[in-house]
Amino acid sequence: MADINFGLLKQLCETPGIPGREEPIRRLVADAMRPLVGEVAVDALGNVIGRRPGRSSCRVMLAAHMDEIGFMVKHIDDKGFVRILPMGGWDPRNVVSQRVYVHTRSGESLLGAVMPGVKPIHMQKPEDANKPPTIDELFVDLGLPADEVKARLEIGDPVTMARTAEIVGGNVMSKTLDARVAVFVMLEALRVVGDHEAEVLAVATTQEEVGTRGALVAAHDLQPTVGVAIDTTLANDYPGPADYDAVTRLGSGVGIKILDSSLICNPQLVRHFRDLAEANNISHQMEILPRGGTDAGAIQRSRGPVPSITLSVPSRYVHTVNEMASLKDIEAAIQLLTVYLRHAHEGRYGFEADLG
Ligand SMILES: [Zn+2]
Repeated sequence: MADINFGLLKQLCETPGIPGREEPIRRLVADAMRPLVGEVAVDALGNVIGRRPGRSSCRVMLAAHMDEIGFMVKHIDDKGFVRILPMGGWDPRNVVSQRVYVHTRSGESLLGAVMPGVKPIHMQKPEDANKPPTIDELFVDLGLPADEVKARLEIGDPVTMARTAEIVGGNVMSKTLDARVAVFVMLEALRVVGDHEAEVLAVATTQEEVGTRGALVAAHDLQPTVGVAIDTTLANDYPGPADYDAVTRLGSGVGIKILDSSLICNPQLVRHFRDLAEANNISHQMEILPRGGTDAGAIQRSRGPVPSITLSVPSRYVHTVNEMASLKDIEAAIQLLTVYLRHAHEGRYGFEADLG
């Protein structure tokens, strides 16, 4: 097993924080980041920002999003069953029969089951089967009488999946690796980086899963000269998807993104990361993601143009409760980010040379 601080990663994965309601994870991340940067700030969108001063004009913004896909309570019926609004991209097939926590204003986390309103298999006709429900058709059963549900819950209460992070083979399997494993990578790189010339602005961003909103405003405020998002990406290397649609493969190293549908990474920045990975024997793979975006897309266009890139931790089964990432890939991501921060001030990513 790679030598990683699994205790911290597990805590990060298991702490709730849907988009816009990141309070619990924000407290944890701020506490974990503070000793690594001196002091942390929080902005009005809830981004946690740690600053490590530098000696050059290079200002690197790191962005790892701390929000998780989840749900919000949108309706409680007369029998006490709860309807939920998805916050982020859920495939309903991965939601049916899961257990969730509803987080109430008094600080309780009530366990419930997300179920479809269908007859049990014993009573189904053949034509009833094989029709996947929509999220609207699902409800949460908290096992409580209606008056108690109405007294304890409010419309807008956050709902998160009830799952723990576990080691499975050489991997971690958990809900919310997207993108808590990226927050973990950012924190661990800050822990080991030591001296660096560039100023480092480490941001645990909010509301990524509903459209990279936290990163957009943080980058506008911080005015970085380089943007580096860290996130998970697809590892479609399991039965089903075609081999050419794999995007990345589990255990084949940290992903260096060339493009996704939110940005074309600055080619010189891509080259810089690639050269550093090769020179330092860090296991890596090049990534092209046809659909999907990251905070780097927001940073790149936040104010003025910012050369930007994403470092990816390959993950199977993204946006399910069984996201799976290789410990070796996580380790490689920490190494590459650390090496980059030590060399960031050497980077030249402008296009002036093309003017002749
Ligand atoms: Zn996501």
